[in-house]
Amino acid sequence: MTPPETDNFRRAVSRVMRNKPKGKRMKIGFVGLGNMGAPMARNLAAAGHQITGFDPVAPCPTGVTPARNGAEAAAGAEVVITMLPSGPILRDVAAGLHGAMTAGAVHLDCSTVDVESAQAVAQAATGAGLQALDAPVSGGVGGAQAGTLTFMAGGPQAAFDKAAPLFAVMGQKAVLCGGPGMGQAAKICNNMILGVTMIGTCEAFALADRLGLDRQAMFDVVSTSSGSSWTMTAYCPAPGVGPDSPADNDYRPGFAAELMLKDLRLAQQAAEAAGADTPLGEAARDLYARFVGAGGGEGRDFSAMLPWFEGRRRRG
Ligand code: NAD
Repeated sequence: MTPPETDNFRRAVSRVMRNKPKGKRMKIGFVGLGNMGAPMARNLAAAGHQITGFDPVAPCPTGVTPARNGAEAAAGAEVVITMLPSGPILRDVAAGLHGAMTAGAVHLDCSTVDVESAQAVAQAATGAGLQALDAPVSGGVGGAQAGTLTFMAGGPQAAFDKAAPLFAVMGQKAVLCGGPGMGQAAKICNNMILGVTMIGTCEAFALADRLGLDRQAMFDVVSTSSGSSWTMTAYCPAPGVGPDSPADNDYRPGFAAELMLKDLRLAQQAAEAAGADTPLGEAARDLYARFVGAGGGEGRDFSAMLPWFEGRRRRG
């Protein structure tokens, strides 16, 4: 569901956009206007770009001209952005977009998908006389709304340079990681580390509880010791400890556990295809699958592993 647009939120967006660099006004097609796509498209429109959008379900956000289908959104655009749920949907949508796009235009896919789909879509785009860039994001819905996403991109330098002014509006950092698919590779490697680290941090808090170690004391030590990580210092899974995080908001996401599971599955799919040995990534995927399934984690933040561990006891 797209977050509601309050007056305060609109004022905050326009404040953010006033401080962004103003590039050349571009004609942009935007396909996939869900939780992430809608605020990204809205920010581009607020920065003065001409956006035509399409989504079969979600409404067009403020400032975006609605199209009847993806091809209509893509026609005549210099850059077509897709923000879709999965690789198979991206492949399907791309097949309908490429034929409608102007020669030399950039297909900028910001969805999180499997490396293979990203590379197949890039190859199809190149075959159709287009440029392609996979550029998944980190930063979640909050980052999309605030225009503070991080983009990790894969594709040619020329396509990256063309998309750079759009990255500057939608985010605070963009890194060209290599050729086609390397943005997706960077995203799944990062999120595999994140999933594994979050589980480790939650396990350690659950163990500390059983040992009678105070959570605040544990935070004070670990946050400045060798066990420190982003999950401890910036996104602490224990309520009332460390900086404000989803744990302090009844584990409302944030970054939902099912999205973490999606990324861990993509990481294992890539590891299997590449023959990489990733035992902790595999264990993290299996644990998140149990948490999201029988563990009641669906719809909760991925840090809600901590209360799940609290309620569990060692087997045997
Ligand atoms: P979402 O489900 O809210 O939005 C996806 C949109 O795609 C929906 O509105 C859906 O109607 C639309 N769609 C589906 N099929 C379509 C089609 N054939 N043609 C056009 N539109 C179609 O998902 P989201 O949270 O916006 O995530 C989008 C992508 O961003 C995903 O790949 C996700 O993994 C990634 N991502 C999400 C987050 C997050 O916190 N939500 C964070 C980082 C990355």
